[in-house]
Amino acid sequence: MEIIDIIEKKRDKKGLSKDEIEFFVKEYTNNNIPDYQASALIMAMYLNGLNYEETINLTKAMAYSGIVLNLSDISDIIVDKHSTGGVGDKITIILMPIIASLGLNVAKMSGRGLGFTGGTADKLESIPNYNVDINIDEFKQNIKEIGISLITSNADLAPADKKIYALRDTIGCVSNIPLIASSIMSKKIASGANKIVMDVTYGNGAFMKDIEGATELSKIMIEIGKSANIEVRCVITNMDEPVGYTVGNQLEIIEAIEAIQGNMPEDVEEIVYKLGEQVLLMTNKASSEEEANKMIKDTIESGRAFNKFKELVERQGGDVTFISNTSKFESAKNIIPIIANNTGYISGIDTEKVGKTSSMLGAGRKTKDDIIDYRAGITLKKKIGDSVEEGEPIAYIYTNKDDSEADLKELEAAFHITNEPVNKINKVVKIIV
Ligand code: URA
Repeated sequence: MEIIDIIEKKRDKKGLSKDEIEFFVKEYTNNNIPDYQASALIMAMYLNGLNYEETINLTKAMAYSGIVLNLSDISDIIVDKHSTGGVGDKITIILMPIIASLGLNVAKMSGRGLGFTGGTADKLESIPNYNVDINIDEFKQNIKEIGISLITSNADLAPADKKIYALRDTIGCVSNIPLIASSIMSKKIASGANKIVMDVTYGNGAFMKDIEGATELSKIMIEIGKSANIEVRCVITNMDEPVGYTVGNQLEIIEAIEAIQGNMPEDVEEIVYKLGEQVLLMTNKASSEEEANKMIKDTIESGRAFNKFKELVERQGGDVTFISNTSKFESAKNIIPIIANNTGYISGIDTEKVGKTSSMLGAGRKTKDDIIDYRAGITLKKKIGDSVEEGEPIAYIYTNKDDSEADLKELEAAFHITNEPVNKINKVVKIIV
């Protein structure tokens, strides 16, 4: 088989066989196909599409490019939660301890920040000494003993996705439904969970820009899940503004610590409860939405969810005194406000711009070797629908940079103010099972 023939076939809008897809994935992962040929094929897939069968074959080829974990010796039910990406998205850090405190086993491998979106692994690392890089055996041991482990994606899991994703990121081929579905689901198949709740985001801070795209992505991920005996439920959420009031690693961790103790901003609460409810229903822990919501409320109010989070942090080497007392987190050197230049209502937030600005302040990486500044980021004082007076702060940047004039301008341009009242955004749009 020759890669050039496979490229030409997809260029000419023809379907690829299972063997051809497996050949590409295997040989590219083993460095036997150069990036320029892989780029040509991925671009042809992006432009000419992949049908359902091709998408499943691509997913499985990527999943089986490395280890596929089997966690059935721990439990018949292993839960995972995944977000398709957003800005200020700290839901995993809040929800997973809640779920584990209700007696379910949670196996969660999280990515690092990507483009304008943050990554859960980076956020957790802002807790001093928290180790996201434990090996597979320690990961399994933690789940067995305390019911939860949150680590970064392991290099042995779906290595093909790691390579293909990095390539897609550099050739303008990220926002494509079959490619996103196969990328996410290959990692999910490899990481051993069998009940997955997906937060499928859409809007100006997500990869999917509209509900239709998010719906199509959800349906295909559910079908891929079925083909691998994994139950997937998708909750479609709006990402036309950041989640909660913080963007940036340490700032988000502090907001998450507050939230696990019950102090949640409205939108965070809406998403946490809806995703949590779906996990409890799909695992038969609860038989109705009301029961599920009560269980979540009780475990938060009793402090069990917070204790589970502390147990997790301690188990993975983190300094738990920072969790009990968040004032121990040292703030960024400079905290500078963005001031409203007229009176009115916040009508729109360019969420991608907020994510990019946070990244430029140091919260993200320009190249994969960049060192993150955990203290950098943004806090929002106003969200869509809020009224604002001229001269009032809308947001603050947190930075250790000496010159952040350009970042301030960029962030200022992300907020839009109108004279007319504006409705707040409902976060949860629909559920697809
Ligand atoms: N998240 C992933 O893991 N892959 C994608 O392609 C997009 C978001």
